[in-house]
Amino acid sequence: MELQKAHPRQHKEKDGGIQTVSQININKDKPFFRQLTRKLEHLIFPGEGICVICKKSLKDIEKGICSDCISQIPPITEPYCTKCGKPLLGNNRNKLCSDCLLMPNRYFLQNRSYGKYEDILKKAIILYKYKNKKSLSDPLGSLMLSTFKKQNWQPPEYIIPVPLSRKRLRGRGFNQAELLASVISKKIGIPVLNKNLLRTRATEHQTKLGKIQRQENVKGAFKIIDSSMIRGKTLLLIDDVYTTGATLNECSKVLKEAGASRIYSLTLAVGRGF
Ligand SMILES: [Zn+2]
Ligand SMILES: [Zn+2]
Repeated sequence: MELQKAHPRQHKEKDGGIQTVSQININKDKPFFRQLTRKLEHLIFPGEGICVICKKSLKDIEKGICSDCISQIPPITEPYCTKCGKPLLGNNRNKLCSDCLLMPNRYFLQNRSYGKYEDILKKAIILYKYKNKKSLSDPLGSLMLSTFKKQNWQPPEYIIPVPLSRKRLRGRGFNQAELLASVISKKIGIPVLNKNLLRTRATEHQTKLGKIQRQENVKGAFKIIDSSMIRGKTLLLIDDVYTTGATLNECSKVLKEAGASRIYSLTLAVGRGF
């Protein structure tokens, strides 16, 4: 189990001032060094300096996707389901989506997602997960952060990314939820609790499964290593896409059984079925 530090390591300067690691070594503020670094990045990682969506050159402050493309990803606005955050049709007076009406016993208090899994956001998530575009974790994590800030939630004590099975982690090389969690953690100063919630077995891809099959597929697939870290805590679960909520609910169930007091869920996108 690892507890990631929420803040970058700090180094003391000679005059006693504090500098973060990212500010030391090379003086990146000088245009010459900035351009040189960019050019080297182009050579080593071709395609890293252009927007994954529109292919325009990225500015220094942009990572993976340009700000124009990011601004075209609309956030979910009301009306949405008060429980799972899925967009509702305008005439829905229940304030709950059909999933939440049928399945009231969810173990998380609420889920919220930044946008719908379609158009640019869908393309960006596919590139991020399956084409190894890890640089997208930064702008995509920032979108999630904007959704998080709008919530009237109790401040969580830990952020927990939905874990991958060892097999899938080996195949992909990284856990997309973990990178998003670490971006959010750095920005809000809440630590990521890693390798405590584990996936005990590889599950089938949920994509082609129906609602009930998805629940069955993830049943018993998670376990807690050390419940003393969880007991009485408010937790924020992080994943990339919320579809039926089966995975997030199963994770929440295990965390609740380990004594967690409140569980919120935050995802980047909400999948089909809205
Ligand atoms: Zn673009
Ligand atoms: Zn719902």
